[in-house]
Amino acid sequence: MGNGNGREYTLRCLECGGEFVGQWRIRCHCGGILEIWRDLSGLDGERLRRLFEQRLFTERGTVYAGGVWRYKELIAPELPDNVLTTRGEGNTGLYRSQACAAYAGIRELKLKAQSENPSGSFKDNGMAAAVSHGLSLGGNVFACSSTGNTSASLAMYAAWTGSFSLVFAPASNISPAKISQSTAYGAQVIRFDGTYDDGVAFLETWGDVLGLYVCNSLNPYRIEGQKSIVYELAQQLQWKMPEWIAIPGGALSNVSALGKGLDDLWSLGMIDKLPRIALVQAEGASPFHRMVEHKRKTLVPEPNPVTRASAMNIGNPPSWRKALAALELTQGVTVAVSDEEIMLAKRVIDRSGVGCEPASAATLAGLKKLRANGTIDKEETAVAILTGHMLKDVAALEELYSEEITHMPGGELLSPEAVRIALNVFKSV
Ligand SMILES: *Cc1c(COP(=O)(O)O)cnc(C)c1O
Ligand SMILES: [Zn+2]
Repeated sequence: MGNGNGREYTLRCLECGGEFVGQWRIRCHCGGILEIWRDLSGLDGERLRRLFEQRLFTERGTVYAGGVWRYKELIAPELPDNVLTTRGEGNTGLYRSQACAAYAGIRELKLKAQSENPSGSFKDNGMAAAVSHGLSLGGNVFACSSTGNTSASLAMYAAWTGSFSLVFAPASNISPAKISQSTAYGAQVIRFDGTYDDGVAFLETWGDVLGLYVCNSLNPYRIEGQKSIVYELAQQLQWKMPEWIAIPGGALSNVSALGKGLDDLWSLGMIDKLPRIALVQAEGASPFHRMVEHKRKTLVPEPNPVTRASAMNIGNPPSWRKALAALELTQGVTVAVSDEEIMLAKRVIDRSGVGCEPASAATLAGLKKLRANGTIDKEETAVAILTGHMLKDVAALEELYSEEITHMPGGELLSPEAVRIALNVFKSV
C-alpha cells in the first residue's frame, strides 16, 4: 500500500509516456492525448463507499449531493470548493425494463438515463468538471466543437457561471434543437462548412492563441467528470455490477471514462466484479469498431461519416487510445449497427416509457446483435447507458411516430364515432 491520497495528479501522454506535473495542457508536445493519473493507493474503498452514501443525505442541497461532486475524491480533489460548479447533474434514474430485456433477448436489462441531466445529455457530468477546472484557472471564455449536446451543456454551465461560450458546429447533420438550446443559453454559435473533426482541429490549433478554455472531449477533466456516471451506477446497484455495460461511441470520451471509472472502483475494491463493456457504433461512423475488428494497431479515420444518430456522427475520434484501454481492461467488445436497427431499438426504449435520442438507442440495438451472435448469453445481465433525451431530436420523433396520430377526416369536430375508430387503431398496434 502506498500513501497516495490522489490530491496531486500527473498528466500522462498515452502516445510517448511523457509526464507533466503542475502544468495544464491538452496535448503532449509529441501530439499525443493526455490523461489524468492519480495515486489512489492510500485511499480506502470501504470508507469512500460510506462517504458517498452519507453525502446523499447529509449534504442535501449542496454541491456534494450532486452526481459529480459527491465523488470529488475520485474526480478532482485538488479543486477548491469555490469553483465547484453544479446544475444538479447526475442523480439520474436507473430503470429495469422488461420490454428492452426481451427485445435484446437477455434476462435483465436496466437503463441508466443520463438523458435526465439538466441539459438533457450525459455531457453534463464531464462539463461540470471541465468548467470548474477552467474557472480555477481564471478562464471565462469556454469553447468546444460539437455535434450538439456538448455545446448545449457547455452553454448551460457558461450561463450559470456568468461566463461566455463559443460553439463550433458543422453546418449540416446536427439536430436543430441542440443548436437552438445552445443559443438559448447565450452561446455564440459559429456554424461552418466542415465536420465535427475539423472544429476540433481548429480549436486545438487556435484555442490557446485566442484565449479560450477548450472543452472538447479530449480535455482530461471531461473524462474525469464523466467517470461519475459509472460511480453513480455502481452506487445505485449497491456496488454489485452487471455482466455487461452497453454504451454508444462517437468521439469515444464516454467509453474512455467508463473504463477509467471502472478501473478506479475495481482497484479500490469497491465493486464485486468488472463488467464487460459493449461499445456500439453506427455503421456509417464506425472507424473504431473497424480498427478492433481488423486488429489494426492504429485508427484509420472515416473522412465522410454518415449516420442518422447525429450525436455519434464522428469519423476521427480523438480518444481512441483511451477507448482501447477501456476495452482491454474489461475484456470489452465492439459492434456496429445500422441506422435502421437504431431506430427500431429507439421505438422499444421510447415505448418502455423512458425514451431517448437515436444515438442512445444504439446500445439496445448493439446488445440485441451481440446476443444474436452469441457474444452475450441469455442468462446475462446488462445496463445500457442512455446518453441523450428524446426531445433532443424532434425530427426523429416525427419520422417514427407522426403517422400514428389520428386526424379527424376533413378536420371535423370530435365525435364518439371517430374516437371509437382511433381506439381500434390503438388496439391493433
Ligand atoms: C456525445 C454523445 C454520444 C457519443 O459519446 P462520445 O463520448 O462522443 O463517444 C452518444 N450519444 C449522445 C446522445 C451524445 O450526446
Ligand atoms: Zn507524448
